[in-house]
Amino acid sequence: MRIDILTVVPDLLTSPLNESILRRAQEKGLAEIVVHNIRDHTPYKHGQVDDYPFGGEAGMVMMVEPVYRLIEKLKSERHYDEIIFTSPDGVQYNQREANRLSLMKNIIILCGHYKGIDYRIREHLITREISIGDYVLTGGELAACVIADSVVRIIPGAIGDEASALTDCFQDNLLAPPVYTRPSEFNGWKVPDVLLSGNFAEIEKWQEEQAYERTKTLRPDLL
Ligand code: SAH
Repeated sequence: MRIDILTVVPDLLTSPLNESILRRAQEKGLAEIVVHNIRDHTPYKHGQVDDYPFGGEAGMVMMVEPVYRLIEKLKSERHYDEIIFTSPDGVQYNQREANRLSLMKNIIILCGHYKGIDYRIREHLITREISIGDYVLTGGELAACVIADSVVRIIPGAIGDEASALTDCFQDNLLAPPVYTRPSEFNGWKVPDVLLSGNFAEIEKWQEEQAYERTKTLRPDLL
């Protein structure tokens, strides 16, 4: 799949999108993530992309035209399944939405900055508005990284052991069971015996019970 991210601060995205699983997924050709600097598409002088709000509120607002030009250019090159705006008043992001997006071929993620973005962009160009939680960030870049990371890691083949993504929290609406590694005893703290038993049916049963019990205790709303 291809993810185009539109931002006024492209440097914020460099490291999160180019390490670990996301880097490998791109190297394997499973995902292509392209970051665009909105400033490169402004018709205004000195790379201007924001201006004072009508009505005299405090803060600066991202202008329509640079974003419009960039989105229209991208749309002329390929079909986009979703044009997303990151926004604290959007629908709350979750694993179900990540799964849905991971099945798409091309998506755009537009990052707001400053006081926000001229509302006409949201009215006329955006197909989906996503919030990553009830708090306010400086810009949509970190939200775009959260979306890109959670979507790309579940593309089949992105994670070495594919089954691993399917046993994470929220798949099946359950929290993940605890995991342990060597040594089997440290400081007197022991790994549950069943995990060392080699009895895979018992281990699976234990993991299912743990997932259910943890969900019941920590997140009963998921059940
Ligand atoms: N004045 C706006 C907030 C602007 S914050 C308001 O009160 O709604 C600047 C930008 O950061 C936003 O345009 C949005 O793109 C991004 N952003 C802030 N919080 C976010 C969140 N919780 N989820 C997704 N994007 C967010």
